[in-house]
Amino acid sequence: MADDCLFCKIVTGEIPASIVYRDDRIVAFNDINPQAPLHALVVPTRHIATLNALSADDDALVGEVVRRAGIIAKDKGFEAHGYRTVFNTNAAAGQTVFHIHLHLLAGRKFTWPPG
Ligand code: AMP
Ligand code: ZN
Repeated sequence: MADDCLFCKIVTGEIPASIVYRDDRIVAFNDINPQAPLHALVVPTRHIATLNALSADDDALVGEVVRRAGIIAKDKGFEAHGYRTVFNTNAAAGQTVFHIHLHLLAGRKFTWPPG
């Protein structure tokens, strides 16, 4: 846990969030400023600042994060319609919270390339 990290505080419950899924390794919660009808963030409970900090030891954890996003999308009925999953890393991609999180967006049409 990083003392100054918003998502660590959501993981511990110190800051409230609309929790979609929780186990000992992963928490998913609704984004406070949703960009689609479904906009959840899937995070590891362990603090990792960016994808740049990942090591091979994290492969299984990141796999669980990705797989969980797919399960949530499926549970919400977006399996066939489609959905978008995004990790933003550092300034050029617009990362604002430095605890890795997979955006799961669904419920509208997405364009490519993204903005
Ligand atoms: P990023 O810009 O990729 O770092 O995404 C950070 C996301 O966190 C943004 O989509 C924010 O809307 C979202 N966010 C910020 N604060 C909260 C919060 N307290 N609860 C839920 N989502 C949040
Ligand atoms: Zn954190």
